[in-house]
Amino acid sequence: MTIKRQKNLSNNAKVIWLTGLSGSGKTTIANHLKEKILNSGYAVQVLDGDVLRTGLNRDLGFTIKDRMENIRRVAEVAKLINDMGIFTITSFISPTKEMRNMAKTIIGVDKFIEVFVSTPLEICIKRDVKGLYKKAINGEIPHFTGISSPYEVPENPDIEIKTLESDIEESVNIIFDYLFK
Ligand code: ADP
Repeated sequence: MTIKRQKNLSNNAKVIWLTGLSGSGKTTIANHLKEKILNSGYAVQVLDGDVLRTGLNRDLGFTIKDRMENIRRVAEVAKLINDMGIFTITSFISPTKEMRNMAKTIIGVDKFIEVFVSTPLEICIKRDVKGLYKKAINGEIPHFTGISSPYEVPENPDIEIKTLESDIEESVNIIFDYLFK
């Protein structure tokens, strides 16, 4: 028996733009939120920083200029997907206000939902999910957000998820409820 994979398109599909430090929880939240949206019957796509950087954006590095171009391309792709009626979750550090404003302008103010995945730097360093902080602190990775490159905290995000206060399920529910209530 083949599994029915087709899902409903939605006129109300949004772009859920996750921003936060490396290790803050963006990928984890993106993947769990994707499952929850799928289970409610809607089409959904995740765009992940690590994945796009090995494909579409593999020519780009981590200078501010390259990060801007990375985010510009991601926002354009997110818009194309979202215009088809598909919920689109993006998981990118997107460290500056300028980058996030650019993404919002490309995607459209009414479609763009900024979600700040708020985890203190010292917790991200402690988690060190990918072992990158250790390398960055040792000077092996230049331009590393939070260590040798700035992260500008969003001033007015649509949603702020404090991962020290909400576990993964609660974090996902906060975003899901915002989308569907
Ligand atoms: P990022 O994509 O932002 O670099 P990851 O999702 O790869 O971060 O890693 C975040 C880590 O934090 C995971 O190991 C995850 O299990 C953990 N974590 C703890 N609490 C939460 C939470 N409330 N939301 C998301 N991740 C959490």
